[in-house]
Amino acid sequence: MTSRIFRSTVLVAAVVLICSLGVTMGVLLRHFSSVRVQQLKDELSLAATATEQYGNSFLENVEASRFRVTWIDLDGTVLFDTQVDQSTMENHSNREEIMEAFSLGEGSAVRNSSTLTEQTFYEAKRLSDGTVLRISTNQQSAWALMMGMIFPIALIAILAIALSGVLAGRMAKKIVEPLNNLDLEQPLKNKAYEEISPLLRRIHRQHIQISEQMETLRRKTDEFQQITDNMQEGLVLLSHEGTVLSINPAAKKLFDVEDNCLGKSFLTLDRSASMRDALNNALDKGRGYLRYSHGGREYQLDLSRIQSEGTTIGAVMLAFDITEQLNAEQMRREFSANVSHELKTPLQGIIGSAELLESGMVKAEDSPRFIGHIRREAARLVALVEDILRLSQLDEGVALPTEEVDMLALAEDVKAILLPSAEEKNVEIVISGESFKVQGVRRLLQELLYNLCDNGIKYNLPGGKLSISLAQRSITVSDTGIGIAPEHRERVFERFYRVDKSHSKLSGGTGLGLSIVKHAAAYHKATISLESTPGKGTSIEVKF
Ligand code: ADP
Repeated sequence: MTSRIFRSTVLVAAVVLICSLGVTMGVLLRHFSSVRVQQLKDELSLAATATEQYGNSFLENVEASRFRVTWIDLDGTVLFDTQVDQSTMENHSNREEIMEAFSLGEGSAVRNSSTLTEQTFYEAKRLSDGTVLRISTNQQSAWALMMGMIFPIALIAILAIALSGVLAGRMAKKIVEPLNNLDLEQPLKNKAYEEISPLLRRIHRQHIQISEQMETLRRKTDEFQQITDNMQEGLVLLSHEGTVLSINPAAKKLFDVEDNCLGKSFLTLDRSASMRDALNNALDKGRGYLRYSHGGREYQLDLSRIQSEGTTIGAVMLAFDITEQLNAEQMRREFSANVSHELKTPLQGIIGSAELLESGMVKAEDSPRFIGHIRREAARLVALVEDILRLSQLDEGVALPTEEVDMLALAEDVKAILLPSAEEKNVEIVISGESFKVQGVRRLLQELLYNLCDNGIKYNLPGGKLSISLAQRSITVSDTGIGIAPEHRERVFERFYRVDKSHSKLSGGTGLGLSIVKHAAAYHKATISLESTPGKGTSIEVKF
């Protein structure tokens, strides 16, 4: 700005100087020219009077240095010239001023020399005898005058420009200094120039606007940070070149990376071809998908292109943990297959026996056996359907009404229900320990205890024992039965898992009893632990 003010000022000074010099010179030249013409006219009138009186004798005595006087006859012949021998001079009748004087009485003309450096002023007057007297003088032309004055003009111009340069420099500095010292943080407190007040007010308004926008931006960034930091899903923001712009803690954990991955290509974090394809698909076609395994869990990676005004500016990757979903799907598939199988087997038994009875091939004395078979299989079907319904109710996770349940009283109830089958199998049921109360769903707690005790009887040996012992918020069901081998202990809680299928079926088992126990315990936030010695017995503790 300083240099601009400086340049402009010097330029203006130079232009003003040159123009004023030009105008001044023009005015002076005009003035001097008109003075000279008037002088010539005066001299001519004196010379004319003298020539009329004295003729050649006057002209011969005229001082020839300042003016040149020429006397021209009526036919244009030069009668006398104060500078040149008149006999050598050509006829003057066609000269502009002479012609004018012959016709009008007076004539004047100005002619330039061939070099343009000189001008000759002519004034002519007709004398009383009809001849014409002409007087002329030379003067330097405006151009020659200018050329002659070029040195002093240049000197004056240089001095003037130098002076204006110094003054302009100081002025520019003085103008700019208050502007340089402006406090733009507090624009309204500046008192520099009245003219820039609107600008300062605008800066002040923009300050307020910017700080509000910054605050909004900061809040939004904070919100984004809070949300992404606490997200279960992994989130990665990538540039259009695939470099990592932002990555949340869940994604860092998933890809085993630290903060220093920012700015690096995502493909250096995971070099697999499938990852590269998914990223390219997202950037080129808009979407990319990928299954990703890490730490024994399965993730679904969804990549989406981000565009701004039709240009791809990056991609966002979301990683969802789908392990539970996959497990649930797997379980559902297995469960459906198992249910169909479990339902089909007893139905086939029933149909087979019924067909035999229908065909009359069964002897009368064998009929009760077949009918008994049909009844048992049908009873198993009912038990199975009931268990399936119970499990699906538990799966739905519907909140059930709770109540305070006395666990000792509950054990007595279960004992009463199971007593007939226990007696049938010659198994003694013993209840011991002190009662405690559980805030829970009575029906589920009863099913839990029933299934444990039912197993304790079913898989017991004749003459065996089933003990239900209550301790501090825990209930343990122990039997002296066949026991469970170590390799089956983890799996017996799975749906339809049975160590010995035929034994289970014979005793009316559905393979769902311990699954119901597991679910009912989980519903009451209780833990289950199983101890078993094959051939000696099994003990299952449920701790509330
Ligand atoms: P089931 O209806 O066949 O009894 P469960 O889910 O109750 O089904 O039990 C799963 C399997 O675990 C049973 O088939 C059996 O092989 C084994 N099991 C359960 N409880 C006992 C126990 N007390 N003693 C020995 N084996 C048991």
